Amino acid sequence: MLYVDPASARRGAATALLDAIERLAAARGAKRLTADVSDTANRYSNVEASSASAAIWLRSTTNGSATPPCPKRLPGQPPGGRDNASLKVKIMARERLYLFDTTLRDGALTTGVDFSIEDKRQIAAMLDALGIDYVEGGYPGANPIDTKFFQSKPTKRARFCAFGMTKRPGRSAANDPGVAALLQADADAIVFVAKSWDYHVHVALGCSLEENLECIADSVRAAVAAGREAMVDCEHFFDGYKANPSYALKCARVALEAGARWAVLCDTNGGTLPDEVERIVGEVTRVLPGERVGIHAHNDTDNAVANTLAAIRAGARQVQGTLNGLGERCGNANLVSLIPTLALKGDFAERFEIGVNETSLRSLTKVSRTISELLNAAPDRHAPYVGASAFATKAGIHASALAKDPRTYEHVPPETVGNKRAILVSDQAAVRTSSRSCTA
Ligand SMILES: [Zn+2]
Repeated sequence: MLYVDPASARRGAATALLDAIERLAAARGAKRLTADVSDTANRYSNVEASSASAAIWLRSTTNGSATPPCPKRLPGQPPGGRDNASLKVKIMARERLYLFDTTLRDGALTTGVDFSIEDKRQIAAMLDALGIDYVEGGYPGANPIDTKFFQSKPTKRARFCAFGMTKRPGRSAANDPGVAALLQADADAIVFVAKSWDYHVHVALGCSLEENLECIADSVRAAVAAGREAMVDCEHFFDGYKANPSYALKCARVALEAGARWAVLCDTNGGTLPDEVERIVGEVTRVLPGERVGIHAHNDTDNAVANTLAAIRAGARQVQGTLNGLGERCGNANLVSLIPTLALKGDFAERFEIGVNETSLRSLTKVSRTISELLNAAPDRHAPYVGASAFATKAGIHASALAKDPRTYEHVPPETVGNKRAILVSDQAAVRTSSRSCTA
């Protein structure tokens, strides 16, 4: 955020200041950053902290003057002009948010979806080009396609992840065939799914709560010892937390203490609502570092995207989802909606950096439609951002306003996500409408 007087922007001072801040970013090795600037001459005081080093640097990069030239005194400016003004600059690096795609694992559980190995390779390459940080490929050892898929890593930039259970109780990770299959896979990271709801530990695993914790820790240690990044999907975390918060939390804590890079909080049943997600993730990130906490949301109340955004607000820094929201039952959090929201919308765009850059964001519509083609399904016309109707209008007043300035009825420019504006001819468009009429 850069706060400057619009008048000074027209005089070129803001341009000079922006240029200086960009050079500061480059000098510090930061690729992207935001700067809060307050100009006391104009009574802007949006910044609490100032940085002496930034001021010194500004002076050295604005040709000897800390305050860029301003030909006229601005309204409200005290006598003495900008020479007496003090500029405060606060440089903040954006926080990195990591994107994790599970289209090839959780998305493959969608009814009617059956990815071939060629489909899997094509999707992995597409996710890699898009800028996804982690691509989860499936369960090596569980079926022949996945075992073959994990014989050679299909991604160049993205970390390729193998998914499987923690070791079984009663044996060591070194003697567990499931863990061995994960360690044999050509993968950068291993994702262990673990029970974090005490009820499931008793009923599904039939072991003690302590034994389950040992299964998590031992499995993570085995993956780390084999040189892999480890993460733990805490299954049913939110239901588990509501039933027994200290045990659910202990599962995540044990994973991190054993060396896992991430503890991922899963809303496996998909029934948790955004306010609950925000409260619970907030409680977790008060005691565990948010930069090692992830969110995995299912869409059973049509809130998977909202739940993911709530978790980010509460401190989670890894976001899991699938292309087009694929997934069993009602699907997973839709990365095709989340990515542009994180890249383009208000606070999220200002606070966070993601691996998807401006150029690859423009491929998003194509990526979404390619997935539909692979599944032999018609693309969803009404999909947010990427649907054929997402930037289409046929209401007369909307169309005439759009023709004057597209921003009147568009929340983002369609080309930013590779989509197109469409103005449809209809009976309504032919009707002369009063300039005061509108639709909501
Ligand atoms: Zn899931």
